[in-house]
Amino acid sequence: MRIDIVTIFPAMVEQALTAGIVGRAIERGALAVHVHDLRAFTTDRHRVVDDVPYGGGPGMVLKPEPIFRALDAIAATVETVPAVILTSPQGTTLTQEVAERLSRKPGFTIVCGRYEGVDERVRARVDEEISIGDYVLSGGELPALVIVDSVARLVPGVVGDERSVAEDSFSRGLLDFPQYTRPAALTIVARGGAAPAAALKVPDVLLSGNHAEIRRWRKREAIGRTLARRPDLLASAALDDEEREILRQLAADPEKT
Ligand code: SAM
Repeated sequence: MRIDIVTIFPAMVEQALTAGIVGRAIERGALAVHVHDLRAFTTDRHRVVDDVPYGGGPGMVLKPEPIFRALDAIAATVETVPAVILTSPQGTTLTQEVAERLSRKPGFTIVCGRYEGVDERVRARVDEEISIGDYVLSGGELPALVIVDSVARLVPGVVGDERSVAEDSFSRGLLDFPQYTRPAALTIVARGGAAPAAALKVPDVLLSGNHAEIRRWRKREAIGRTLARRPDLLASAALDDEEREILRQLAADPEKT
């Protein structure tokens, strides 16, 4: 997959793309991300990308022509013109389903807004607007990184063990089960003093080596958590027979969740 990002702060995006799973995927060639400095597509000496809004009011607006030139330049380097995504608090909210849909594309271009946003006419070249949530950020760089990360995880070959993606929260409409690592028992001292201490133990079943029991415990925890925290997800969750039975039991006796 190839993702192009158009931004006035390329360094902010490039730096983040060097880390972790996405950074390794780019290094291995499993994913290509090209970051374009919007100022490179200006034609004036001062490389101006913004201007005051018609009609007055506070703030600046990203000018349309540099964005159009950037999109043309990207389109000229690929066989199929990639879909253009505008980051916008007014867009479709990014969900796992949206990330899955995007992960099936050969690539796409993300335009990062700034200031009061982009000139409305840019939308003539935009295929979809994506928001990462109902709050307003200063720019589209963080949303672009969120989109890249959530989509990249779903591209085959990006995450080493694809079972971990399959088990992630939302992948089947369930939240993930709780995870523990060593040590098996942990003594923590209460805040503000030496005593009392509480022993925090890993559930016995995870130490039992009984894989059938562990699998069932995880299913039960995932369903219990989803029921307690995000019951709205269960209506469209893809459950197997065993999970449906666990859900029936937990729903009948919420004390057990
Ligand atoms: N005045 C705009 C509005 O109310 O719709 C907000 C502009 S915001 C300060 C600047 C840019 O940040 C936006 O053009 C967009 O690219 C990005 N942005 C801010 N919040 C976002 C969000 N929740 N999701 C995606 N992009 C966002």
